[in-house]
Amino acid sequence: MAGDRDAAADAGREDVSTADREGLVAYARRMAADDLAPGTSGNLSVRRGGLMAITPSGMPYERMTPADICLVRTSDAALVSGPRPSTETPMHLALYQASHAAAIVHTHSPFVIALSTVLDELPAVHYAMADLGGPVRVAPYARFGTIQLAASAAAKLAGRSAVILRNHGALACGPTLERAYERACTLEWLARVYWHARLAGAPQTLSESALAEVTDAVRALRYGEAAPPSGAVPPPEGVSPPGAAPPPGAAPPSGTEPQSGTEPQSGAAPPPGS
Ligand SMILES: [Zn+2]
Repeated sequence: MAGDRDAAADAGREDVSTADREGLVAYARRMAADDLAPGTSGNLSVRRGGLMAITPSGMPYERMTPADICLVRTSDAALVSGPRPSTETPMHLALYQASHAAAIVHTHSPFVIALSTVLDELPAVHYAMADLGGPVRVAPYARFGTIQLAASAAAKLAGRSAVILRNHGALACGPTLERAYERACTLEWLARVYWHARLAGAPQTLSESALAEVTDAVRALRYGEAAPPSGAVPPPEGVSPPGAAPPPGAAPPSGTEPQSGTEPQSGAAPPPGS
């Protein structure tokens, strides 16, 4: 019934706060400064209840205001309020459907795009890869905005918190917009490291068990469960590489959140051992 749908939309709308809108605009502007998305490319969203708040289509980031953020109903992609939502709305919705992420950042970052043309998967050349759930897969090319691109991105995301789109860009997910953005930065940084390593020779990569050990050590540090294994002590900043920190005032604790595809929507870290 239309009345029911309106009521549901109203309830969901209350969950999208002014801070959510301001955060989307702030991180959208930062994407250009951080060389993650030139021009009007890239887009960001957060999920709140039955609604997704997403950046508008084709609007220069410097002109964007919190009032321009579009609200889209997750159940049927209907526009609830705002101007024209991002053309990648289907892809954001597909990723939310395939995960428990509460925020998504879509970038056109140059090293990731360059490597997307020659790789099927970005290998683990640094232990920071643990924060992305493991080597990040490359989804096959499909035109922007299509259901095909949305479906293949969602499929390749499985068990990861990021996915690369061939000849296009990448998406990073998280329990908060800050964490999703941090992961987008981490992914581009890892692509740069891999690029340089390949220029220098044949890179050694980390095994799945080595990444799992990093995840366990970071979790132990976070919860004070137990001392990390000898010889596997991560630096105080966790696994996030330099340059991946969110702006002052928005910085969440960094570190790994394994199985981010199953992260709780609230943004709370999973309990130890989960
Ligand atoms: Zn794009």
